[in-house]
Amino acid sequence: MKIAIVGGGAAGLMAALTAAEKKVRVDLYEQNTDVGKKILASGNGRCNISNTSLTSEDYFGHHPSFVNHALKRFDFKTFTHFCGSIGLLLDIKPDGRVYPLSNEAKSVHEALRREALRRGVRFLLNRPVRHIEKRTAGFIVETEEGTESYDRLLIATGSPAAPQLGGSRSGLRLAESFGHTVVDPYPTLVGLHLQGDLPARMSGIKVDAEVTLHIEGRGNRSVRGDLLFTRYGVSGFAVLDISTEASRALGHGRKVSIGIHLLPEFERQALVSQLGKVAGRVGHLPLSQMLHGLLPKKIVHALLLSLGMDAGNPCSRLGAKDLRRIAAQIADWRFDVTDTHGYKHAETAGGGVSTEEVDAKSMESTIVPGLYFAGEVLDIVGRRGGYNLHFAWASGRVAGEAMAK
Ligand SMILES: Cc1cc2nc3c(=O)[nH]c(=O)nc-3n(C[C@H](O)[C@H](O)[C@H](O)COP(=O)(O)OP(=O)(O)OC[C@H]3O[C@@H](n4cnc5c(N)ncnc54)[C@H](O)[C@@H]3O)c2cc1C
Repeated sequence: MKIAIVGGGAAGLMAALTAAEKKVRVDLYEQNTDVGKKILASGNGRCNISNTSLTSEDYFGHHPSFVNHALKRFDFKTFTHFCGSIGLLLDIKPDGRVYPLSNEAKSVHEALRREALRRGVRFLLNRPVRHIEKRTAGFIVETEEGTESYDRLLIATGSPAAPQLGGSRSGLRLAESFGHTVVDPYPTLVGLHLQGDLPARMSGIKVDAEVTLHIEGRGNRSVRGDLLFTRYGVSGFAVLDISTEASRALGHGRKVSIGIHLLPEFERQALVSQLGKVAGRVGHLPLSQMLHGLLPKKIVHALLLSLGMDAGNPCSRLGAKDLRRIAAQIADWRFDVTDTHGYKHAETAGGGVSTEEVDAKSMESTIVPGLYFAGEVLDIVGRRGGYNLHFAWASGRVAGEAMAK
């Protein structure tokens, strides 16, 4: 039995070393000069490798329940055992996120690479697969170096996210050439572009905020966490966490906006009375200086500009209506979202090969026998927190086991 794996990322590596354990011949085609570039870049070089709590609710796609079998077959306990077997120890954070104990993505990369080679996987690096042909029995893989035939084949080419690390649509095109349906990809876990020049005026300022996503004017989801104003709009963990739904809605041509609560520890009414108290105490100060006691200076100026209020006005002149307007803006400052920051800056992409045409128990195509898919090339994308890598490991594991049978 001869197996080809196209794509040497997390899913492809896991599938390769799983299949190779069964003593079948495994060739792994990777277009980059080395495997696992995204593994190395993940978690800011620390690699948030998994999460202790994994359910289909942590995933998006047309059929998130598709992940259930793989998550059960390769659950966190089995994953921990596997990591231990290749000498990789884990550090479990109190919120469930999991990192290598070394705190270095490099150790994950090295352990997988070493194990794949030890089990006899043949790495074919610098070999972008251009075309695959289906024959009555098996497949012919075509690269610039020539052609080679295989009995079974896995497409684990990832998504178009982060093209500088190997992200591409090539797997989607290969899938389409076999008659598979592809759900249009969209960038996810990505910053958002906002209308107007006010965000740019606050560029570089990071706050702990609550961000609410509004689709067609309806509040959809609120997330509290870091928010970073940038020259194009906003980024930061709270923004990444709502970016998947925002990006999908934008892709469908829907109106998307966000509401930012800059001081989430205060309810709006509590904020009005708090502002009233402070203004009473420092009535002699200009409005901007009073607000600078609560918020960063750049934010104060942009906020007053958005309200058309004079930053130099003394606080003593503020009326109840002014206080309510300021409090309302601090608690729910609305911005229209015009775009995402694009694939180059996205950690992941939604969309991909439709899971309706793939058997969740084996990752085999239901259209072309012997053809398999794993990882982000599928119409599955996870939340931030180790979910994407875990799905890549788990789906790669299931595919590797099924292919070697
Ligand atoms: C900056 C960044 C940080 C991230 N941090 C985290 C994190 O901390 N935790 C987490 O869970 N997820 C994280 N992710 C997401 C995670 O890395 C991916 O979801 C995961 O790597 C997907 O694995 P994959 O094997 O499906 O695809 P990939 O890792 O993208 O692998 C696909 C491989 O296929 C190769 N390829 C593509 N086309 C061809 C072709 N035609 N021929 C040959 N080779 C081809 C590519 O070069 C690539 O090496 C992060 C992503 C990025 C970009």
